[in-house]
Amino acid sequence: MRYVLGVLAVLLLVWHWRSTRAAALLQRQQAATNHLPVKGTAQPMVACGLCGVHVPAADAIKGADGSYCSMDHHRQARD
Ligand SMILES: [Zn+2]
Repeated sequence: MRYVLGVLAVLLLVWHWRSTRAAALLQRQQAATNHLPVKGTAQPMVACGLCGVHVPAADAIKGADGSYCSMDHHRQARD
């Protein structure tokens, strides 16, 4: 009987470990699909060439002479 309980406890632990791992993997996949930052990871930031506000590099507007926080600031910097 002790042996059966031991095996059941191990199976329960493996099931719990696998289900939490699957949930974390699913969260990462959804974050990547929605272009959201994964919890616990840092995003590279760049400063706007006009106003100096820091924005995520992925969201910045890239110009010939730098990055900008918005299309408006990109246009103003060109003029
Ligand atoms: Zn700006």
